[in-house]
Amino acid sequence: MQWYTYILECDDQSYYLGITNNLLRRTILHNQKKGSKYLINKLPIKLVYFEKLVEKSEARKREIQLKGWSRAKKEKLIKKITMNFLDFLFPRRCVSCKRIGDYFCLKCLSKIEFITRPICPTCGRLSIGGMTHPRCRTAYGIDGLFALACYKGPIREAIHLLKYKFVRDIGEALISLFISCYPQTLPQFDLLVPVPLHKKREKERGFNQSLLLAELIGKSLSIPVKDNILARTRLTKPQVNLNVEERKVNLRAAFDCQVKADIREKIVGLVDDVATTRSTLIECAKVLKRNGVKKVWGLVLAHG
Ligand SMILES: [Zn+2]
Ligand SMILES: [Zn+2]
Repeated sequence: MQWYTYILECDDQSYYLGITNNLLRRTILHNQKKGSKYLINKLPIKLVYFEKLVEKSEARKREIQLKGWSRAKKEKLIKKITMNFLDFLFPRRCVSCKRIGDYFCLKCLSKIEFITRPICPTCGRLSIGGMTHPRCRTAYGIDGLFALACYKGPIREAIHLLKYKFVRDIGEALISLFISCYPQTLPQFDLLVPVPLHKKREKERGFNQSLLLAELIGKSLSIPVKDNILARTRLTKPQVNLNVEERKVNLRAAFDCQVKADIREKIVGLVDDVATTRSTLIECAKVLKRNGVKKVWGLVLAHG
């Protein structure tokens, strides 16, 4: 874990006001533009920058090094500003315990089961880096899978809020976690393609959560997103109540590739929120590859 002190400037004097870890830092930077000024307790406060420190104890030391103020005054001010500043930064509730703060409080963040042992998207067994095993490879098969976490606990709750309660902002919180864990070993994607919803279902829901996630990932990693490539041509039953075999049948010929010229020889990241049995990813990869795509990796927030 990397630790940072964050610095706030108040009346043109600098103060070190706290320590935070990498995940929180990302969330803060995501919400607050560097150098923006805020009025907190009628004081103009500016978030100046984050200073990276390897040692937590060093960060703690810096935290109390304040210049030009009496100790009592400093402590009073810091306490006041820190509390208000944090309230100001995180006027949200934790998806899991509902505590006011961010969408993931530190306690619930620590409950998330991040995927540390990736699996082969075809057979579901352990595989280095999430690559499809050589023995599982087929001509139109998927090439690999990166999933952020297991589909349970706070991640499951967050995805549910995003999908069914239309809390779009949670998408950002989820993607900032996704990006902070994104492995350098993944291929350089030429484009991101979201798993499509059927037009009718998209209309019911109001938006396609996979497109939203793809756009956020694309923005972070500077990869173009194309949502006109794949289409869901058949209104399939919800996969939730089906077993593995039924899911495969349900998805047969459910997808179609529409813009073929743009994707020849491309390396594609296929984005979805959850891959429970991975059958949707496998089906989409097949369609993409039949239409000339060179490589397809699944990029999902969670799998079952
Ligand atoms: Zn919580
Ligand atoms: Zn395999």
